[in-house]
Amino acid sequence: MNTAPRTYEIRTYGCQMNVHDSERLSGLLEAAGYVRAGDTEPDVVVFNTCAVRENADNRLYGNLGHLRPVKDGHPGMQIAVGGCLAQKDRDTIVRRAPWVDVVFGTHNIGSLPALLERARVQSEAQVEIEESLVTFPSTLPTRRESPYAAWVSISVGCNNTCTFCIVPSLRGKEKDRRPGEILAEIEALVAEGVLEVTLLGQNVNAYGSGFGALAAAPDEVRAMTAGGESAFAGLLRACGDVGGLERVRFTSPHPKDFTDDVIAAMAETPNVMPSLHMPLQAGSDAVLRAMRRSYRQERYLGIIDKVRAAIPDAAITTDIIVGFPGETEADFEETLHVVREARFSSAFTFQYSKRPGTPAAVMDGQLPKEVVQERYERLVALQEEISWEENKKQLGRTLEVLVAEGEGRKDQATRRLSGRAPDNRLVHFAVPEEPVRPGDMVTVEVTYAAPHHLVADKPAPAVRRTRAGDAWEARQAGTAGPQGVSLGMPSIGRSAQADTPVPGCSAVS
Ligand code: SF4
Repeated sequence: MNTAPRTYEIRTYGCQMNVHDSERLSGLLEAAGYVRAGDTEPDVVVFNTCAVRENADNRLYGNLGHLRPVKDGHPGMQIAVGGCLAQKDRDTIVRRAPWVDVVFGTHNIGSLPALLERARVQSEAQVEIEESLVTFPSTLPTRRESPYAAWVSISVGCNNTCTFCIVPSLRGKEKDRRPGEILAEIEALVAEGVLEVTLLGQNVNAYGSGFGALAAAPDEVRAMTAGGESAFAGLLRACGDVGGLERVRFTSPHPKDFTDDVIAAMAETPNVMPSLHMPLQAGSDAVLRAMRRSYRQERYLGIIDKVRAAIPDAAITTDIIVGFPGETEADFEETLHVVREARFSSAFTFQYSKRPGTPAAVMDGQLPKEVVQERYERLVALQEEISWEENKKQLGRTLEVLVAEGEGRKDQATRRLSGRAPDNRLVHFAVPEEPVRPGDMVTVEVTYAAPHHLVADKPAPAVRRTRAGDAWEARQAGTAGPQGVSLGMPSIGRSAQADTPVPGCSAVS
């Protein structure tokens, strides 16, 4: 009888929420005795799906079709489908692809190992979808991709109703984690060597609204907001008190909840990094109204001005949808106007993609593809110009870079290493004489600016070896301790299989 542990592979699509969940799925399977397949053909393939793009369904069923003959040739292979498309399509998936063994939803990722076992024992497909969150994903076992950077989920779900978005119907209303739990997780991560965390939520700056009325909120939330600040501002300040935590980031905030106290907390908490990702989606008030985004151009630009006044070297990025139903040329000009005013360091830009089941999908004024394509190209060209101009302002600056793993595709050829500056800009730098590891910090001077990255080719004046570098080295040597099975978070870098995850809720276009 074959006693070798069964192997698994997870294919992740969509946003950071899914990247975060995939690390939980890895942790769950490893806690149940599975091991990563690596380069061998896996015994279990798990699809963690995204329902955002119009062709998301076609892509899933295409991949399942390709896998059928592989499964036929691999006795005991199992296929599982989870994520937003599973939450939406449910048993349709096993009807269209009867060779799928398990379908599970966004609210019950913890049930995967049991469902795989039940499907195996009963030789029958298992479909289990919950309507609301069973277990907060952060309490589940995990296998983190990175030893030096981690995501910390502070809330799941969303209370907004943007007309192009399917997330609220698939991930439910916002649920917030208790601050004490979040901070305990961060402290445990730092103890393992992590020095950068990203607070993760569909709408991070709405954090606290999930507790309902303040009077009924847990004591720790009321204590955190006693000074009149929002719970999110309080959480950022509390992260400032975590010893050994060098960098705090967050994604994705919503402009309607972006209050002055959050800007003050960012500016006054030293380990909160000067980088802000704030989805704009569109510049025209008429389009923002049709999107039900509950803010207008003036407020959005007002926030940008306040952030720049309080944090002059902040890098601000955004998400923009082009071609929303009913968008006129004048509306699009408003988007270009905001882009010129806001001077984003970079932007995720999307062509509107109809999502069945959303109000926008049945709106009048759906635009022809060629009109959307032409506007999209104009927007990308303008943003490319601005990104480059903003990067050129970094020339001569001295930056401390967190050395990253897998962020420099050309590093070997260019004899460089790569990492992230405090404002999250990507920096490729000359290999220092002193050996450095991912997780270490290197001080460099910017010598060249490209549209999407910076280069530092002078010898690095300083290298700071960190506990995060030690943790990375220990993992390479296979001597890393158990990763606090119930505490890890996803990586900052892209996981091997993920397609282009985009921050926060911008994956909904
Ligand atoms: S776009 Fe973002 S804020 Fe709007 S409903 Fe979707 S997840 Fe929520």
